Amino acid sequence: MTAEQVTLTDVTKRFGETTAVDGVSVSVEPGETLGLVGPSGCGKTTTLRTVAGFETPDEGTVAFDGEDVTHRPPESRDVGLVFQSYALFDNMSVRRNVEFGLKMRDVPESKRGERAMDLLDMLGIANLADRDPTTLSGGQQQRVGLARALAIEPRVLLLDEPMTGLDAKLKTRLQREIGSLLDDLDVTALYVTHDQEEAMVMCDRIAVMNDGVIEQVGTPAEVYEHPTNDFVADFVGTSNRLDATARDGELDFGHAAVPAPTDASGDVTAVVRPEAFKVGEGPLTATARDRFYLGEHVRTVADLPDGQSVTLKVAPEEAPDPGEQVALDLDADRVHLLEG
Ligand code: ATP
Repeated sequence: MTAEQVTLTDVTKRFGETTAVDGVSVSVEPGETLGLVGPSGCGKTTTLRTVAGFETPDEGTVAFDGEDVTHRPPESRDVGLVFQSYALFDNMSVRRNVEFGLKMRDVPESKRGERAMDLLDMLGIANLADRDPTTLSGGQQQRVGLARALAIEPRVLLLDEPMTGLDAKLKTRLQREIGSLLDDLDVTALYVTHDQEEAMVMCDRIAVMNDGVIEQVGTPAEVYEHPTNDFVADFVGTSNRLDATARDGELDFGHAAVPAPTDASGDVTAVVRPEAFKVGEGPLTATARDRFYLGEHVRTVADLPDGQSVTLKVAPEEAPDPGEQVALDLDADRVHLLEG
C-alpha cells in the first residue's frame, strides 16, 4: 500500500442556506491518521465525503499527492470506506464480501482469496470466513467492513464513526487493535468521530471542527494541553477555565498567586486540566462542593474564594469531603493561557 498525502485547500460546501464546510484547509500526511472531531452537524461527514468524491465542493480543491481529484468520481479515487452501518452484502459469505472490491477490479480468483484470507487473519477473524454476515456480532461485522475496505489497497482510508453501536469494552479493544493496524499498514486515514477520547486513542493528529470550520489541528497532546480557544478547550476533555490576572510572572487568583507560564500581563483565562492541580498543598485554597466516584479517581468540584469553581481529579483516598477546605498548587507548565 502506498500512503498518499491528502490535501484540502479552502474547501467550502453548501447545502441551500447551510454552509456545511466553510473554507477548510488541512493536510493528512502520508501514513498518518487524522481524526476529524467535533459536535453533531459541524461538517465532519461532509468533509469526509468530499475526500471520497461523493460531494463536490462549491469552492476549493481536494488533492491526493498533489494531484487534483476534486472532480474525479469516487470509483476512480481508490479510497477505502468504513462507515458505521457496515453495509455488508447479506447474500455473500464474509470472504466473498472482502473479495468484492477485488473482483470489481478483475483481480484473479486465487489472488482474491489469498488477499481476503490474509486480511481476515490479520484482523483475527479468519475462522469466520465462510459465515453469512447476518450471523456476526457488531464487532465482527465491523472488522469485516474494515477488511473489505483494506482489500483494494486503497490510496486513502476513510472511516466515519466506525465504532458506533459497539459496547464500551469492545470499543476499547477495537480502538487499540485498529489503531495499531493503521500504524502498521502505513495507510493515510481520515477518521471521523464525535468522540474526542476515541480520536485521541486512534489518531496521530486531531482536527477539531466547529460550525464548518477547523478550529485547531495538532497531536492529541497539543490539542489537550494547549487548546487555542474556548471551544477546543471545552470540547476536548474536561477543562477548567479560570479568570485570573497575570502580573510579574504570576497568575493572581485574588486570594493567592501561582507562577505564570508566560510573561503575559492583564486579564487572562487560564485553561487547566483537572489532573494538573496538585491537591493537598499549595498557595491556593478551595472548598470542596461535590464529589463523583469514578473508580480509579474521584472527580471533585470545589469553589475558589471568589466563587469560581474548579474540577479536580483526586485519588479516592485523598478526595476531600464536601465542605472541606483543600490546598491547591499549579505547575506553570500545565497551565495554558488564553489572553484577551
Ligand atoms: P454528525 O456527527 O451528526 O454526523 P457531522 O459533523 O458529520 O454531524 P455533517 O453531516 O457534515 O455533520 O453536516 C453538516 C451540516 O450540513 C448539517 O447542518 C447538516 O444538516 C447539513 N447537511 C449535510 N448533508 C446535507 C444534505 N445532503 N442536504 C442538506 N443539508 C445537509
